Amino acid sequence: MSWDYEIAILGMGPAGIQAGIHAGRRKHKVIIFGKPYKSALAQAYIENYFGFKEKIKGKALLEIGMEQLKRFEVRILEEDIVKIEPLESGYKLITEKEKEITALSLILALGVKRPKKIFKDEDKFIGKGLSYCIDCDAWFYKEKKVAVIGDGSAAIHGAKLLTNFAKEVYFYPLKDLTEDDKNSLINKNISILEKKPIDIIGKEEVKGLKLEDETILELDGIFIEIGAKGPLELLAPIGIELDPETFSYVKVNRNMETNMEGIFACGDLTGPPLQLAKAVGEGCIAGLSASDYIKRILKD
Ligand SMILES: Cc1cc2nc3c(=O)[nH]c(=O)nc-3n(C[C@H](O)[C@H](O)[C@H](O)COP(=O)(O)OP(=O)(O)OC[C@H]3O[C@@H](n4cnc5c(N)ncnc54)[C@H](O)[C@@H]3O)c2cc1C
Repeated sequence: MSWDYEIAILGMGPAGIQAGIHAGRRKHKVIIFGKPYKSALAQAYIENYFGFKEKIKGKALLEIGMEQLKRFEVRILEEDIVKIEPLESGYKLITEKEKEITALSLILALGVKRPKKIFKDEDKFIGKGLSYCIDCDAWFYKEKKVAVIGDGSAAIHGAKLLTNFAKEVYFYPLKDLTEDDKNSLINKNISILEKKPIDIIGKEEVKGLKLEDETILELDGIFIEIGAKGPLELLAPIGIELDPETFSYVKVNRNMETNMEGIFACGDLTGPPLQLAKAVGEGCIAGLSASDYIKRILKD
């Protein structure tokens, strides 16, 4: 049997690009799918990544990464994959423009689906007091007044983390809290909001939240933390195993192997921390593991 490519990478964010650099450098025939401008990194300003003393624009890093990929002769196809079909050996991928491409091994670097909007003007406040990543941005709110809106353990954990930085933390739960959760928040001096926030207040940057009774809660920052779900619609039909605690992320071992023969996963898709350094590290391992897999299979 022959394949169009030895390795196909799904996702053109930092995890996929790094996987491509490592696999391409080992002289494999590699293709990468996705859209760099849809990477989470395209929205970010990074100041906690190794080697950059000053804050750097995520978009600029992506552009450099894409140039680097070209050096290693990775074929770039800016299309999404809409279906994966397992073959007797290897996989067939179908793109949004109905191209069919086969590959012996896959690297999944699809990122996570970001939460749907809660407020109508949300976009204009991103990076101006509104954040979706407490781990990334808590640091900027030392001695400030912030609110967390969210559900699940990620939001509760995030609100508690913020108490190490901010001077006041408010929490609005999008789902009912258990008594244990409530107590754990109160013990950390987090104020639980009873009234629903209906709007973000501010012109150029976040100034506060308008609550349903029309009162204003003045704030320096707002965090929206809704459990992120991976692009499971694409992966569930082929039987990729998910992390049994959250069912939101792909389960991998230390070699970034999934439960399926020849399929590796990396980056945000494999779960927290949703950070650039982790995405790049896992991309490196996935690229090298896929390369080892190809060598082993082609030798047998
Ligand atoms: C506002 C913001 C601020 C952030 N700040 C920081 C920070 O300060 N520090 C830090 O370390 N991290 C930060 N992050 C997180 C960081 O950007 C991510 O951890 C990182 O981009 C994850 O890389 P990834 O490659 O796993 O996924 P992504 O970068 O999200 O890339 C996913 C890729 O998959 C592709 N894709 C999706 N579906 C398909 C499909 N069906 N077929 C083909 N391709 C597909 C997309 O087009 C995209 O190219 C921030 C994120 C955001 C949103």
